[in-house]
Amino acid sequence: MRIATGSIAHESSTFTTVETDWDSYRNQRFGYRTGQDVLDFFRGANTAVGGFLAGCDAHGFELVPTIFANAQPSGPTPRAIFDEILDDMLVRMGQIKDLDGVFLDLHGAMVAEDLDDADGHILKAVRDLVGPGIPIIAQLDIHANMSPQMVAMADVIIGHETYPEIDQEERAKECTEVMYRILQEGLNPTLALTQIPLVWGMNQVTAHPPMRQAIEYLHEIESRPGVICGSIAIGYPLADIPHMGASVYIATDDDQALAQSLADELAEWIWNRRADWQLHLPSTAEILPEAESASRYPIIFADRDDNTGGGSPGDSTAMLHTFLAAGLQDACILYIVDPEAVAMCQEAGIGATLELAVGAKSTPLQGRPAKMRARVEALSDGQFTYEGPRNRGLKSTMGPSAHIVQDGVHVLLVSRREQPFGIAFSLTMGLDPRQMRYIGVKSSAHFRAGFEHFAGHIYVVSEPAVHSAAALQGQFKNLGRKLYPEYDL
Ligand SMILES: [Zn+2]
Repeated sequence: MRIATGSIAHESSTFTTVETDWDSYRNQRFGYRTGQDVLDFFRGANTAVGGFLAGCDAHGFELVPTIFANAQPSGPTPRAIFDEILDDMLVRMGQIKDLDGVFLDLHGAMVAEDLDDADGHILKAVRDLVGPGIPIIAQLDIHANMSPQMVAMADVIIGHETYPEIDQEERAKECTEVMYRILQEGLNPTLALTQIPLVWGMNQVTAHPPMRQAIEYLHEIESRPGVICGSIAIGYPLADIPHMGASVYIATDDDQALAQSLADELAEWIWNRRADWQLHLPSTAEILPEAESASRYPIIFADRDDNTGGGSPGDSTAMLHTFLAAGLQDACILYIVDPEAVAMCQEAGIGATLELAVGAKSTPLQGRPAKMRARVEALSDGQFTYEGPRNRGLKSTMGPSAHIVQDGVHVLLVSRREQPFGIAFSLTMGLDPRQMRYIGVKSSAHFRAGFEHFAGHIYVVSEPAVHSAAALQGQFKNLGRKLYPEYDL
């Protein structure tokens, strides 16, 4: 059996100032990869392709690669670039002889220029290419904005069940299991979607209640007779599109009515708890006194609104201003995107002390630059290897980077936008977050997989940025429906 794999994944903010271009696909994350290189690069890694490979090996399938295109979250992809990427995948897929099935690794919250439902468009294009008889199974992020078109065009869709998302390999193996049952055992999937008029707040961490109960309920439904698999999509709220929001989708064996009733059942349970998924987010300055009195170190402040993993520029400065004003010792910010400041540090050299205006260069929405008189502790080209669980074993780069320190506040200046999934990159810069008392991260939750085990306490905070509530006020025009809590037409 020959199963094609193709990856086109992007989480698209329609509000960010960060534009998406060819460089975003070619030189961010793991680059634009084609053919055998896709398999060689991801074999053994905790990613969708890594899991497809492992699952295909186990079931005696041959995985046939097409392309891997995955940019860091940012603005909608220009249409010409999107079309070229999709065409590349379709042409390669069309050349595969004796194709028996298709695995797609998508995000589920991709928007292209003049194309709100880019994922649905990709799925339809693949369906048109392979015809109705070839099973298509897609893996999605937990933050997918699900559309009816996506569900109509795929045989089965399986979303991540963890946040921080660390089950890419596991879910991809599940995709291969379902593919095996379709091809060898005559399974006939019926897939149903229930959209919930809900903007899920920041209470999303699956290891903790109340999110843990939602996943447990999902697993209980998956254990019922006739159910193949099910998923909760939290949704991605930074997209002004009609299908933005949370949803549930369930696949059953040849029983559309059962799939729909189970999706409705879990969706209603989520809706009834709609207030439970919301979290009030204080600023770092507001929560600092409480954090100090709890004195459980290291204290981690996670800035939801300058999360580069959600498409933000990664150069907001409010938290840095707070750290400096409070005179914190053994404090660090991971990271601030500022290639200009990095270049000045490189020119000055390690050990030099220089005047710098740090951050907030992308847009005034990100705050005002922090004037620092800092010493350059370390410089690098940004190369490192992820320690996992997320991206375990994969090489990546933060671009030219500098570790600077003023008084007790350390800042890692980087050139590429990526949130800290672990401490590996910091260690290459001579900064060990485990030795710090205060850690600021530009990340909503993904950092937890690499930081929570040594954290004293974690506070999710909100600082002024392109994605903060104040900046988004009144900006939604295309939802076409009322959503809970505050997203009116
Ligand atoms: Zn996600």
